[in-house]
Amino acid sequence: MSFSTLSPIPMSEDVKAACDDCDWTGLADDCQPIKDPSQRLNAGSEVPAGECPECGCLAYVKGPETNRYYEVQTNTTINGWVNVWQTDGEPLNFLSEKGARDALVEFFEDLTIAEMFDKYSRDDYRIVRFETEVLT
Ligand SMILES: [Zn+2]
Repeated sequence: MSFSTLSPIPMSEDVKAACDDCDWTGLADDCQPIKDPSQRLNAGSEVPAGECPECGCLAYVKGPETNRYYEVQTNTTINGWVNVWQTDGEPLNFLSEKGARDALVEFFEDLTIAEMFDKYSRDDYRIVRFETEVLT
């Protein structure tokens, strides 16, 4: 399987947007500005329409029916940004941005408990969104 990320979609007045985490859908214009964009957005990934007015997660312009998932990528010296998180030998994916963020927060909490926090930097981790069109 191969996945590609979509390019940013230009905004216009009645562009529809949908939240990634709750059931909210509405106009892209109704989305809120994104807080902490440097923590939540990555170069090369799709630009969100804004924050969901209901829950504050990222909302995206609604395109065709798609499958999407999120990876937590680690900045490795040798291979650059890769998803090194695995479960049962398979790369670990998340169905929502929130799920990926929660996992990352938990990861750093575990490091703090293990007193290994100083060996890792949050800057070496990022969340990347992937999307594929559903072919019907
Ligand atoms: Zn929402």
